[in-house]
Amino acid sequence: MSETNETNGVAGVIDVVSLYPKDMNIYGDSGNVLTVARRLALYGYAPRIHEINQGDPWPERVDMILGGGGQDTGQKKIIDDLFARADDLRRFAADGVPMLMICGLYQLFGHYFETIDGTRLDGIGIIGAHTIGRDVRMIGNLVEHSAHFGDIIGYENHSGQTFLDPGVEPLGRVDHDGTGNNGEDHTEGARVNNVIGTYMHGSLLPKNPAIADFLIRAAAERRYGAFEPRQAKDRVAELARIDGIAAKARAVAAG
Ligand code: GLN
Repeated sequence: MSETNETNGVAGVIDVVSLYPKDMNIYGDSGNVLTVARRLALYGYAPRIHEINQGDPWPERVDMILGGGGQDTGQKKIIDDLFARADDLRRFAADGVPMLMICGLYQLFGHYFETIDGTRLDGIGIIGAHTIGRDVRMIGNLVEHSAHFGDIIGYENHSGQTFLDPGVEPLGRVDHDGTGNNGEDHTEGARVNNVIGTYMHGSLLPKNPAIADFLIRAAAERRYGAFEPRQAKDRVAELARIDGIAAKARAVAAG
């Protein structure tokens, strides 16, 4: 049920969960949290960031969940805690809570991840995909194409090859063999309703503000029934400046 906003002066409060910042945060994925907080503020919303590590209770409200990447060891550390939260996460996903899961957590949002040493980590099955660890890492800057978000730029570094179930929509498509989900089928990431999984570090959101805005809009609509930014002139100028820098970076990367 959507909430009436009676907060004075701001468009509303948005409660953002940063999931496992201690164990799952490599290649600057915490930049995604900073970007969402900054853009929410520029739109006139009050961001409330909750860092949720192993054993921490959920906050009272959850409007968005952002999770980063991690090495196989980090994934093994958090897997029990992730399973303890799996039903809640599935319920949040079914209820439209927007989520962004990068690399290591993207893999664990699938059915399973079989690591290079043969250990099988079961995933929580929110994204129809499975991952197999291989001895070739996929590393490098990457441009992918998305009908919904335009060109997306980022950086990938993973040994897991992810295969989407038939019918699961990738986040985007890559041009080159050896990149993306598995190096073979030219897909990258996945999107299931408001849940996005991707290998794109970077951080992703500062370079791709359209994805940040998708998450913000979904969170605001779910909580308040509408996305109603209150933009002072200087905030509009600041957003335009930031988006201009990101657009230039995407144009350069896309060649
Ligand atoms: N450990 C996983 C892999 O190498 C994820 C790595 C990451 O999050 N960058 O496939």
